[in-house]
Amino acid sequence: MNVRDSEAVEALLVAAGHEKAAGEEEAELVIVNSCTVRQKAEEKAVGKVGNLIAAKKLTGLMGCAVKRMGADVFKRLPKLDFAVGPRAFGLIPRILEEGRLPRLELGEDLVPDCLAAHVEGGWQAFVTVLLGCDNRCSYCIVPDVRGHEYSRPAREVVAEVTALAKRGVKEVCLLGQSVLRYGVRNAAWDEKDAPSPGGYTEPFPRLLEAIATVPGIERIRFTSAHPKGCTDELVRAYREFPQICRHLHLPVQSGSDRVLAEMGRRYTRDEYLAAVRKLRDFDPEFAVTTDVIVGYPGETEADFEATRSLMDEAGFDNSFVFKYSPRPGTRSAALPDDVPTAEKERRDQVLLEDQERRGQERNDRLVGTVREVMVEGPSKRNKSRWSGRDSGNRIVVWDVAGEATEKSGETVRVEVTEAHPQTLVGRPVPR
Ligand code: SAH
Ligand code: SF4
Repeated sequence: MNVRDSEAVEALLVAAGHEKAAGEEEAELVIVNSCTVRQKAEEKAVGKVGNLIAAKKLTGLMGCAVKRMGADVFKRLPKLDFAVGPRAFGLIPRILEEGRLPRLELGEDLVPDCLAAHVEGGWQAFVTVLLGCDNRCSYCIVPDVRGHEYSRPAREVVAEVTALAKRGVKEVCLLGQSVLRYGVRNAAWDEKDAPSPGGYTEPFPRLLEAIATVPGIERIRFTSAHPKGCTDELVRAYREFPQICRHLHLPVQSGSDRVLAEMGRRYTRDEYLAAVRKLRDFDPEFAVTTDVIVGYPGETEADFEATRSLMDEAGFDNSFVFKYSPRPGTRSAALPDDVPTAEKERRDQVLLEDQERRGQERNDRLVGTVREVMVEGPSKRNKSRWSGRDSGNRIVVWDVAGEATEKSGETVRVEVTEAHPQTLVGRPVPR
């Protein structure tokens, strides 16, 4: 989401007549986009800004850490030139034009049109469809900093995707904290919109249907998902539109019902596993990835073992493990952070090792299959080795003998000859 917001800011600044610098050294102005989901992330952003100020750059800070710190951001960084919250980045061109610095904008209101601003070029694009979050999981600061859930009107989203496709974009990734809740809190469709040709009634599958008919869009991804949104209609959309990639990032956080209830995740272990089963019943190769938190307050060895066994039962294709970090103002911050750091590290390591083994097992099953791969380009270290991704978002690499005939953004067929936990190796085969 931050990558997307940064890209929008770049596009807005270029439209306002600024020029993109070749790199940080050459730049007159550097804007750091910050995350505050864990304390470490915030410290990294603040540290980076400190270094830029020391290098005498005109410096801006945007994003979630700004919203969390409020006016305190200038106490921590007295020489910062401006700071804008995650829903106020549309103001940056005006702030630069007016030049009354330092300035702080925490506002909830995005300047109209700034959500649809994109830089030219490229065949992949992120599209924000749902802002904010209303879920209020006990550990999470996102609702405090990114504000209430708001679904952009479907017509606006489809217009944005259509404009992107006309510029050569082939793959879009729709973004929202809980993206399957699109159109639930506020209506995204209104009476003026044509009815769904396929009879879809749920707002998100209906949006997928509309985007799947945009000429030129070959792949549709979206993230992040919640098991409650894994409905029959969503699966029907997967079945009817092959453009929708066979991958879902479905953060589970824990495999213990007790911890899930404390977190306020609104699903049980069994409900979560049923959602995964539904996707894999539809397509056994369907890739499911997840996020897990280790060391949540009061997480016992038995809770942790429940997470381990859930991860095996779900057969995750990939997983991201986070060590619990108390965030100010969240419900769980009032609980003692009682799992020692060393124990959090151990649990993290155990899950990483499990994932290596599981990733290997999942990928071993794909040896001999042919993947439809969208080409990303040559690897940075070895120009004769190219890579891309399959529909399941798996990284696929292959060797190119002599001059490459592949172009980035085109689809090639690659037969898998070798599997690793996080990559597939293969050779191109004719269509
Ligand atoms: N909206 C997404 C998650 C966004 S935050 C969802 O619910 O699916 C990305 C990930 O950061 C979360 O999935 C969680 O695993 C992790 N995370 C969030 N708050 C955290 C905290 N306080 N400590 C550690 N990890 C956290
Ligand atoms: Fe945070 Fe939960 Fe919202 Fe995800 S769904 S952003 S974890 S509150």
